[in-house]
Amino acid sequence: MINKQLKLILVSTPIGCLGSGKGGGVEITIISLIKGLISLGHKIILIAPKGSKLPFESELLEIRLIDGIDQPSWQHQKETDPILIPSNSVLPRLWEEAIYIANEYDAVINFAYDWLPLWLTKTQTIKIFHLISMGAESLIMKEIISEISELYPFQLAFHTKRQSKDYCLKNDPIIVGNGFDIENYLFNENENGPLGWAGRIAPEKGLEDAVKVANSLGEKLLVWGLIEDKEYASKIENIYTKEIIEWKGFLPTNKFQEQLGRCRVLINTPKWNEAYGNVIVEAMACGVPVIAYDLGGPGELIENGLNGFLVKPNDIEGLIKATKSISEIKRKNCRDWFEKKATNKVFAELVENWLDKGLNKQISADFQD
Ligand code: UDP
Repeated sequence: MINKQLKLILVSTPIGCLGSGKGGGVEITIISLIKGLISLGHKIILIAPKGSKLPFESELLEIRLIDGIDQPSWQHQKETDPILIPSNSVLPRLWEEAIYIANEYDAVINFAYDWLPLWLTKTQTIKIFHLISMGAESLIMKEIISEISELYPFQLAFHTKRQSKDYCLKNDPIIVGNGFDIENYLFNENENGPLGWAGRIAPEKGLEDAVKVANSLGEKLLVWGLIEDKEYASKIENIYTKEIIEWKGFLPTNKFQEQLGRCRVLINTPKWNEAYGNVIVEAMACGVPVIAYDLGGPGELIENGLNGFLVKPNDIEGLIKATKSISEIKRKNCRDWFEKKATNKVFAELVENWLDKGLNKQISADFQD
């Protein structure tokens, strides 16, 4: 715990404004963390792309909006691709603003999965902390993260251990998990709802595998999320003659959780080393058990037999079997797991601990659980 109020600059993702869905899970991470840090008494200035909106206000929060062109996501580039900075890019502008006001603040937290803010760490007197939001998708990102882990080990944190294993780290990783505002998710007791799937509609998210399960069980699959790759979405839709997918769109959290909470199970089938898996925890917060591949973050969030089932990657028969057994999981266990492990209060306390260590440069075993 930190006994003094920290003055923090948070720099948002340069991919889309907050609320657009383009930034994926990072958007809710930033929003939840701001609320959590404010509840601990810290003062925040958020620097974010123009159009960003937060669902609450506070005397401890100021927002500065910056205009500019989005960064291309590393998710959809080749591993060896160089760094791209488009003309009129928002990324350098976000950081110009952060550096301009830095001497009035204690620290900066970066949420961009990008080379520039990581590199800037070496050039600034203010401490820049980085919450790494993806597994290793690019060589140049891998290199700079490895370098920062050697030079400033306490200024780097990851969502899960499995995510951190993608990187060559010179020191033990600091793991802070993730967190969600408990007030935003209502527990739903109903055990007899439909099958659900949620996430960006893009190949790395593996929607087709969940569709195969629904098809084999002769059921509909309710799908929430931003359609990032239209061609991929229609390809999946066209495999089957009858309509299996019920597209629900990209909804704001209050509506999303209300609909998601009615499901009897969330089937989560990413094909990549998912850093965390927000939708898994959001489902659990509503009492919905989750079946996922034992890969990346999901493998750390699901305790097999307690809040869902883990299945070998790409094992469709395993997914079907687990779906048939889902009534064995008590919905209350899922909510309890969320309340204990992944509220924004739990998350903000871990982040506060991380900042404390980073600002005071002490070695800690607190994060190694
Ligand atoms: N989401 C949402 N509305 C929807 C569907 C999804 O707000 O209708 C959000 C969800 O809350 C989650 C994010 O989309 O925070 C997806 O994040 P996740 O970590 O699951 O995957 P990512 O997109 O970061 O790879």
